[in-house]
Amino acid sequence: NDQKRKQITEGLELLTKFYHYLLTTAKYGSSGMRYLEERGFNSEMIERFRIGYAVDSWEAVTHLLQKRGVSLEFMEHAGLIKKRGFDNKYFDRFRNRIIFPIFNMSGKTVAFGGRTLGEDKPKYLNSPESDVFHKGSILYGFHLARQAIRKSSQVVLLEGYVDVVRAHQAGVTCSVASMGTSLTEAQAAALTRMADTIIICYDSDTAGIEASFRAAELLQGNGKVIKIANMPEGLDPDDYIRKFGGERFKSDVIGASQTLMTFKMNYLRRKRNLSDEGDRLLYIEDVLRELASQHRAVERDHYLRLLSEEFSISLDSLKKQLHQVSVTAE
Ligand code: ATP
Ligand code: MN
Ligand code: MN
Ligand code: MN
Repeated sequence: NDQKRKQITEGLELLTKFYHYLLTTAKYGSSGMRYLEERGFNSEMIERFRIGYAVDSWEAVTHLLQKRGVSLEFMEHAGLIKKRGFDNKYFDRFRNRIIFPIFNMSGKTVAFGGRTLGEDKPKYLNSPESDVFHKGSILYGFHLARQAIRKSSQVVLLEGYVDVVRAHQAGVTCSVASMGTSLTEAQAAALTRMADTIIICYDSDTAGIEASFRAAELLQGNGKVIKIANMPEGLDPDDYIRKFGGERFKSDVIGASQTLMTFKMNYLRRKRNLSDEGDRLLYIEDVLRELASQHRAVERDHYLRLLSEEFSISLDSLKKQLHQVSVTAE
């Protein structure tokens, strides 16, 4: 089994080099390179993240593996090739896709994420779970972010590969990704182990916003500061940086990140029209309902005070109302 893992790891390293070679060699990789250039990724990032390109072929990888004597059975297990039903011949699984090698904590390739150049589905094809790849315990980009995380004691959590590459290109090198919106216990544990401040910056769409709540709750309670970045609705970090630049990403998104409660209050606020009296009361109730599940008295008090000041309501009546909300919720 150790032998199997060693062989798979060697095969994955070989393919990391191969895909990267194909991308950066004009003759084979021009469509992949054109795609990355259009999205504005520079060659430094292509090198740092060892980005590659799988050519539009059914056998480029299979042939290479055969020629190098790598076990096809093992590489099928790792999800790089597949067996055809009718003649039992292997064929390449990643075709005409940009390849993001997924590294483990020490920087060895354990899987690939492949993005289509166009609109075909699925947009991303990932390696399956294997003897070397346990998706739930990997943070994409960690080994490249490690130094910056240690230095600033801060880590920025993003959703996707391209967000991480873009953030690093913009100089936010303490960025890693959970590869989708479902942060796992293992990823959460790794994040709280490595930094004092964790800033969640998921896509600002419904799925991403709700996932931010879940992630913040999972990360909370370790004595760490958990914040949620402040991104305009509809954008992801890659979109934002393309549109407004890296400096504004640092100051207005990462720099303006908020506690979970403030983030929730702003989220609830957007659903109401606060110049309308009825809506204002509904908003206050929304916030009180959130506060009712907040167990830390000091924090509860802090937000009650903010409400009291903003809406000129006595702290006393807010407390009474909060008590009612808590009782009816039970
Ligand atoms: P792009 O900007 O290229 O469209 P994205 O990162 O914005 O990419 P999202 O749809 O926001 O794409 O997905 C975020 C992340 O979730 C991806 O980077 C990938 O890790 C993961 N993901 C998305 N779709 C899939 C899928 N079909 N299979 C596996 N993982 C996926
Ligand atoms: Mn998304
Ligand atoms: Mn996205
Ligand atoms: Mn995107």
